[in-house]
Amino acid sequence: MSDMLSQQDPAIAELIEREEARQRGEVNLIASENIVSRAVLAAQGSVLTNKYAEGYPGARYYGGCEVVDEVEEIARERAKELFGAEHANVQSHSGTSANLAAYAALLKPGDKVLAMDLAHGGHLSHGSKVSLTGKIYDFRHYQVSEKDERIDLDQVREIALEFRPKLIVAGASAYSREIDFPGFAAIAKEVKARFMVDMAHIAGLVAAGEHSNPVPHADIVTSTTHKTLRGPRSGLILCKEKRKKKVDSAVFPGGQGGPLMHQVAARAVCFGEAKTDAFKKYAHEIKVNAARLGDMLVDGGLRLVSGGTDNHLVLVDLRPLGLQGDVAEHALGRAGIVVNMNMIPFDPNPPRQPSGLRIGTPTVTSRGMGSTEIERIGNWIVEVLKNVTNEDRIAQIRGEVREMSESFPAVI
Ligand SMILES: *Cc1c(COP(=O)(O)O)cnc(C)c1O
Repeated sequence: MSDMLSQQDPAIAELIEREEARQRGEVNLIASENIVSRAVLAAQGSVLTNKYAEGYPGARYYGGCEVVDEVEEIARERAKELFGAEHANVQSHSGTSANLAAYAALLKPGDKVLAMDLAHGGHLSHGSKVSLTGKIYDFRHYQVSEKDERIDLDQVREIALEFRPKLIVAGASAYSREIDFPGFAAIAKEVKARFMVDMAHIAGLVAAGEHSNPVPHADIVTSTTHKTLRGPRSGLILCKEKRKKKVDSAVFPGGQGGPLMHQVAARAVCFGEAKTDAFKKYAHEIKVNAARLGDMLVDGGLRLVSGGTDNHLVLVDLRPLGLQGDVAEHALGRAGIVVNMNMIPFDPNPPRQPSGLRIGTPTVTSRGMGSTEIERIGNWIVEVLKNVTNEDRIAQIRGEVREMSESFPAVI
């Protein structure tokens, strides 16, 4: 396959090789990324990409769907079993598409929605002004508490009682603490709102029992499949049988045309992997590694937002070292350690020079790195952050990072 690509299109083949080398030689701590298995890669690179299959299994608008019908059935059944859901829609192209469909299934344009503030760990698709979601619906946002930097359900309830939203959304992309789904559900019930959970970041932890499962508490649960769940880039929607029709028609024809059947197949492979004992062990290790790395950073003089982590990521406050996120991200990048700058709650600095870094362990854990490597990574991060202008030392660390990283597989 790759031989054929390099003959026909050397420019792209070479770039793919370069990207693989980059992934092999760097330590990736981006909390929303992961690396998929060869089996998931194989399903994505299959002839299923050739098939149009608008509609759902048994009710398609194209002929020749008998095989892909079986693929989608398996994906749906595995998703339902994995998360204990009555219905699964496996066609959303991404997490944002899944959220748009979920809102469309539950709301009318202009309806009020209460979700987490982006600047406090939420997501663009939870009603940011620059997102279609924020233009279609009337969003208001809750924040974390100033006291402990955790979600404050009293504040959520207070806003909900006053704002009277039609929908309450829980879920985050930069929040290191367990989310209290029953607590949210109780507030939604009290104000007669629907309750939606976007578990994009934590789906792998949920699948493995390493985070509580929102499915029993929410009207709709959306997710990506490419973060801790370690599958292909795509979205997933879970709901009760009674919402199946609305959800399915919100995805197709509501917001999408034909499903990407190679991606649906890759989702099925991912769901199959996620129910194994090996995956459960993996998800546990992600958390152990995140906690260990967080401790190392604190020992190095940094501060963790909320004081620690219950999941796969830590949000680091750089201010104790007098650093800004952009400077820190770039210095670490020169050392071969890939992270992203991030706003922290109540950040006094602007989004392009925020006060934080978001650091996650899904990828390094997938590659097989454990406590020994996490300790080295923690030491490197602290050293780079204390020497952001010392290019000689950064170059030296770059060499050490490469040597360690290249001794672990980049494709699993
Ligand atoms: C990543 C993420 C999404 C969006 O996923 P895309 O596939 O990038 O569209 C949605 N919600 C949350 C909470 C996320 O973290």
